[in-house]
Amino acid sequence: MTRDFWIGTGWKMNKTIAETLDYLARLATVDLPNDVRVFVVPPFTALAAAKRAAAATPVLVGAQNMHWEEAGARTGEISARMLTEIGVDLVEIGHSERRADCGETDATVAAKVRAAIAAGLRPLVCVGDDRAELEAGASAEAVVRQAKLAFAGLTPAELDGGLLAYEPIWAIGENGRPATTDHVAEVHSALRRMLDARGLDGVALLYGGSVDADNAGPLAALDDVDGLFVGRAAWTPEGLAAVVHVARSWRFGDAGAHL
Ligand code: PEP
Repeated sequence: MTRDFWIGTGWKMNKTIAETLDYLARLATVDLPNDVRVFVVPPFTALAAAKRAAAATPVLVGAQNMHWEEAGARTGEISARMLTEIGVDLVEIGHSERRADCGETDATVAAKVRAAIAAGLRPLVCVGDDRAELEAGASAEAVVRQAKLAFAGLTPAELDGGLLAYEPIWAIGENGRPATTDHVAEVHSALRRMLDARGLDGVALLYGGSVDADNAGPLAALDDVDGLFVGRAAWTPEGLAAVVHVARSWRFGDAGAHL
């Protein structure tokens, strides 16, 4: 099956509304290729403004989290209904920072994935191995397990168009050490085998963790990589554009169409 190629950036707890609008205005001046689906994931406060600003562009907008319930006594939480009202295109679920800082578990991740799909939102599920799992040679096993639990009980039709990001905990953020392409290839191949065995070939597999314009090319060229999820290197529109162009040219060659 042919899947779209995705490149997105999660902004974590960064960017005000004004900074988001400035980012998107500058991104709108960049010639983005039309064979890469580009998305940004701003904080909640900037989502509505981001959606309005991106409306006339091909850039998609995602949320960083949601609760699995529709409404209720959940102070500080945001439901899928609130996100669909804004028109967000996707929702990130289970980032390792939320698993570590906010008590997200495989069970809450699974509940959120189900609620997102029921509301018509495209889930972007993050899975990641820690340093001990890496050192024990258990990376693939660890993330395959997380992905199986996140998608448990869901059908291929429900998960069609879903996104799964492999983000090694040891590779993301300030202290992250970039993964080798061999490591990414091995783990993505294990994830793809698991997805295919369940008929989930409509799920796209993204890689994230210290991706930048210097290492994006070889990662984007891997068979089982359907996209990249980028943090720090894409927190400027110029940084995102650089990753998109490098990744695109490694992935598709230089003859692609531009908008
Ligand atoms: C992330 O934390 O999801 C991430 C990809 O971060 P970075 O690219 O900054 O390592």
